[in-house]
Amino acid sequence: MARLVIVSNRVSTPRERLSRAGGLAVALRDALQKQGGVWFGWSGEVVDRPDPSPRITNAGKITYATLDLSPVDHEAYYNSYANSTLWPLCHYRLGLIDFRREHFEGYRSVNARFAQSLAPMLRPDDVVWVHDYHFLSFAAELRRGGRKNRVGFFLHIPFPPPELFSALPSHRELARDLCAYDLIGFQTESDLSAFTRYIEQEIGGTVHPDGTFEAFGQRSRAATFPIGIDTDAFTGLARLAAVSPETTRLKESLVGRELVIGVDRLDYSKGLPNKVEAFGELLGRWPEHRNKVTFMQIAPVSRGEVAQYRALRRQIEGGAGRLNGKFAEFDWVPVRYLNRSFARPTLAGFYRASRVGFVTPLRDGMNLVAKEYVAAQDPADPGVLILSRFAGAAKELKAALIVNPFDVDGMTDALHLALGMPLDERRSRHAAMMDVLHANTITTWRDRFLEELNTTPQRT
Ligand code: UDP
Repeated sequence: MARLVIVSNRVSTPRERLSRAGGLAVALRDALQKQGGVWFGWSGEVVDRPDPSPRITNAGKITYATLDLSPVDHEAYYNSYANSTLWPLCHYRLGLIDFRREHFEGYRSVNARFAQSLAPMLRPDDVVWVHDYHFLSFAAELRRGGRKNRVGFFLHIPFPPPELFSALPSHRELARDLCAYDLIGFQTESDLSAFTRYIEQEIGGTVHPDGTFEAFGQRSRAATFPIGIDTDAFTGLARLAAVSPETTRLKESLVGRELVIGVDRLDYSKGLPNKVEAFGELLGRWPEHRNKVTFMQIAPVSRGEVAQYRALRRQIEGGAGRLNGKFAEFDWVPVRYLNRSFARPTLAGFYRASRVGFVTPLRDGMNLVAKEYVAAQDPADPGVLILSRFAGAAKELKAALIVNPFDVDGMTDALHLALGMPLDERRSRHAAMMDVLHANTITTWRDRFLEELNTTPQRT
C-alpha cells in the first residue's frame, strides 16, 4: 500500500490528547497509522532563524515532520495573506481584504520552502493530501521540483463566487497553482460550482460533467466531499459527559432555566453580534422568556493579532454588556459570554444540557459545532438546532430550523419557536439529522477522498 503524506498548517502531534485533537485529527492519524506515512506542516513556533530541515518525531508507523516560521514569514504568510486576505475573501467579505503583493510573495515563498523541505522525504508512489487555504500553492511548488506524486487538496472553508474571487489581485496565479493538484475537494456543491464557474468564465478552461477539467494546460478534477464528525464517538462522549462534574455544575447554575448555547471561535464569519442582538430581541418581544432562558456563548479568542478581530471583540462585548444591563435580574444574567475554550468532552456535556444549539455563521465551510450539537443530544429529549443557511452543514442538516443570519427578526422567531417546540417534533427532526450524520461520518469522508485520489491517473 502506498504511503500517505498529510500536509496541513498545524500538525496534531502524538503528544496531543485525542480528546483535544478532534475528529479530523483522529481520522487522519488513523489513516496514517494504517498505511504508514508522514504528517508534515508548521510546528506552531515562530523563531528568528528557522532550521531549513524539519523536526522529526516518529510514533509507530507515522513520522511527524514540522518546520518553524520566521517572524517575517509568519506575518506575511499566516497573519496577512492567509488570514487577512484569503480568509475574508473565501467568506465573501471583500471589504475586509487587506491585499499586499509582498504578502502574496511571502505566502508563496513559505509554500515553496515547505514543499522543498518535504520533497526529499517523498517516495515516488507516496500519495499526498494537502489541507486548506494555507497551502493553495503547495502542489505547484512540488511540481516545480519535479515531483509527479498524486497530490490532492481539500478546502475546508468556502470557495467564493467568481465575481468575488476575481477581485483578488493575484487570482490567476493562485488558480494556476491550485490546478497543479490532481484532485480538489470542496465542502458543498455551491463551492464546487463557484470554482468550476471561475475556471470556465475567467480562465476559459473546460469542465466536464464528471468534474475533470482542463485549465492552464493542466488536467485535474474537482468534487465535493462534505466533512463529517465521528458521530458515534461524539454521542458516546456526550452520554458520559451528561453526568460529569462540569455539566452538573452548569445545570445547577441554571436552576431549571433553559439554555441556548453558541460555540464559535471569535471570528467575523460566525455572525456573533447578530446572535446577541436576536437574543435581546427575544427577551424584548416575548417577556415570558425573561428569567426563564439563558444564552451561553462560548467564544474563544482567535487571531488576536489581526485588527479586525480586536474590533469584533469590542463590538460583541458592547452588545452583550448592554443586553445584560437592560434585562438582568439580581438572580439571573441573560448572556453568559466566555472568551475561553473548552475540551471537546466538556462541550459535549454542555451541548446535551442545552435546549437550543444556536449556530448562525454569516458564511462557513461546514461548521462542525452544528453536527456535534446534534450528535450530543439525548434522542429521548433532544434539543433544537438553529442553523444558518450559509453554513455548509445546512445542505445536509435540513431538519434543523434553518435561518438567514442577516435577518435578526427571523432568528428571533426561530429562537421563540425552538424554545416552545413540542417533544415529538424535536424527536423527529433529531432522528432525521442523525440519519445524515450516520451516513456521512469523518471516516466515510476521509475514505472517499483517498479512494478518489488513489484512483486518479498519476502524472507522467
Ligand atoms: N471547539 C473546541 N473547544 C472550544 C470551541 C470549539 O474543542 O472551546 C471545537 C469544536 O468542538 C469543533 C471545532 O472546534 O470541533 C470548531 O469547528 P467549526 O467547523 O465549527 O469551526 P471553525 O473554528 O473550524 O471555523
